[in-house]
Amino acid sequence: MHVLILGGTTEASELARAIAHDSRFRVTLSLAGRTNSPAPQPVPIHIGGFGGIDGLADYLRDQEIDALVDATHPFAAQMTRHALAAANATGTALLAIHRPAWVAQPGDRWHVVPGMPQAAAAIGPAARRVMLTIGQQELAPFLAAPHHHYLIRSIDRPTTLPPDAETITARGPFAEPDERHLLAAHRIEVLVTKNAGGSATRAKLDAARALGIEVVIVSRPALPDGLEHVPDAPSAQRWLEAHAARRGE
Ligand code: NAP
Repeated sequence: MHVLILGGTTEASELARAIAHDSRFRVTLSLAGRTNSPAPQPVPIHIGGFGGIDGLADYLRDQEIDALVDATHPFAAQMTRHALAAANATGTALLAIHRPAWVAQPGDRWHVVPGMPQAAAAIGPAARRVMLTIGQQELAPFLAAPHHHYLIRSIDRPTTLPPDAETITARGPFAEPDERHLLAAHRIEVLVTKNAGGSATRAKLDAARALGIEVVIVSRPALPDGLEHVPDAPSAQRWLEAHAARRGE
């Protein structure tokens, strides 16, 4: 059975690795093409968008996709909406992997905001030393707050930066002692992040708590109604295996 995994996450790669050599499945992994050097994958990859809901529906039909797994990032809300609409239009089985959100723990100094403009505003009018771990696509609100010093960590170096900015290019997972060292060495006062969930990038929150550093955290968009979802790649693998069994494969 032909499985299309919409990827760009640790879970997508984990699922692709888990079923790559399972003879019941033929797997294609799709990436948006946002990073210059995507991590190597054990299955054929499709790079770039499909051209909206209709484009994805055409792809599902043309490639005879039997099951679609939306393993995109919790903030990739448009792709998730498109996956649901295209799966409904074509009758393709669909499952989303939706990892649980991070939850504040005692000692955390979280300031929860609904979006990136509010995150930039929440840093305040006084100049502060800020670490941004928000990717490279949503820096615009911080360009409008040029009075802060920014340490920006992303997979690729952003092309447009606020005036007082240092950059680090790195791909997780990150370990807590390294994160603590980084925050302390750069004398960071505020960390800005999305509530991505998962273990690969959560160490920065543990490090911030240990150092008493404030965190401005952007809450995630809601999943669309009616979307079947599981929290991790092993659960998605079980769903695919059950689906294959129902088809007699
Ligand atoms: P988005 O806003 O939900 O999607 C925008 C458009 O990008 C989609 O309509 C689709 O284009 C294309 N696209 C997105 N994911 C795709 C995929 N896996 N394969 C093929 N096309 C895809 O997504 P985004 O927030 O820009 O994220 C882009 C990618 O980066 C996603 O794959 C996501 O998993 C990954 N990612 C995102 C974040 C984040 O914070 N947003 C963080 C880490 C990783 P068409 O309409 O042309 O099909």
